[in-house]
Amino acid sequence: VKRSRPSRPAAAQAVVPTAREEARRNTRARFEQWAKNPTCQANTVSAVHNIRMTDVAKHAALPTTFGQSPFAIARGDNFERGLFYNKAERLRAALIEAEVLPKDAFRFLDLRLRMNGGTRINALDDAIAQTTQFLHELVENAGDAPAIVAGATVRIPKGVMLPEANLIIDALAIRADGPKPQLIVGEIKTYPDRGGYTDPAELAMARAQAGIYLHALQLVAERESIASAIELSTVGFLVLSRPGSNRPSIRAQEDLRFQAVRAKRGFELLEKAAHEIPSIDQGATNEQLLTTVMHSSRSYGESCLSFCDLAPRCFGEALDAGDPIILGEDVQRFLGPISLPRAMELLDGAQPRSEAEADVVRRMVEGNGAAAS
Ligand code: SF4
Repeated sequence: VKRSRPSRPAAAQAVVPTAREEARRNTRARFEQWAKNPTCQANTVSAVHNIRMTDVAKHAALPTTFGQSPFAIARGDNFERGLFYNKAERLRAALIEAEVLPKDAFRFLDLRLRMNGGTRINALDDAIAQTTQFLHELVENAGDAPAIVAGATVRIPKGVMLPEANLIIDALAIRADGPKPQLIVGEIKTYPDRGGYTDPAELAMARAQAGIYLHALQLVAERESIASAIELSTVGFLVLSRPGSNRPSIRAQEDLRFQAVRAKRGFELLEKAAHEIPSIDQGATNEQLLTTVMHSSRSYGESCLSFCDLAPRCFGEALDAGDPIILGEDVQRFLGPISLPRAMELLDGAQPRSEAEADVVRRMVEGNGAAAS
């Protein structure tokens, strides 16, 4: 669920790490940001070194617009708590209806931190230890396995991402009716499922995150020597809301294979960025990192407008360069290396100067013919 954590009373802060420390250790929010535009070097450096784009924009005297709405945060909290309320009965019913779980599925394991709505666990390390214990118990006695696990927390083996990679998985569905216990990754989003009209960028983002968690589980299963004893499903599920309500809408059978491979590649890029640029722990100042992000190469994409405070600047640069991306990824794919001004000239009848331009003209003519018939 996309939201920041609410501030906690002083007594609670004595038990769990400070918000800043927790934010550093829980790389999830940084992965979410990075996964929205993994090809942008500035975004990658920002995610690896935990330098928020809002701070980069402020540093560059740009207006900031992506502060989190307290209403959106409260909505996300309510939605998730409703799903897991009373041993996750609402989520279980929805998963059974969507045939993610069998009809007789029951038992719920809550590994969420108290600060995230859980009831037992105060610290990230405890959540990681209990998740590891759950995985081993699953291998030893699949018959007693819970059908749903909330907040499973994994630490990716050292070296995959610096300084630490602790990932919290919204929901896992467990099936014990096959030859091996099967784990199915689920990602919860508050936004409404509008069937064929659901925002494709939001769906792509949710799938990307689920793919990251699948890859993380693959790494952990190998580290714990249980990879051959369990089945990590390569299809996952998304939990969205029904329009105008807090009831869940399940998107089952989401193919995560490509996303998991992409996550693997992404981890490598992230680690490269971590090694190439000194972190605060290695003596870099906040000021230096802000400047590094600001001057890293950028690769504007459709998704930028939805999350990054540098988007107006990057959009303006793409506009000045005549980059077709400003009209969206479909137009960018259609035109390839041809700029928008040049595409306009070709539309006005200019002679193609290259094979690529001739190809675009041919496709424009074909498109016109198809539209006219
Ligand atoms: S808006 Fe600019 S800096 Fe931000 S992710 Fe997109 S290209 Fe990168």
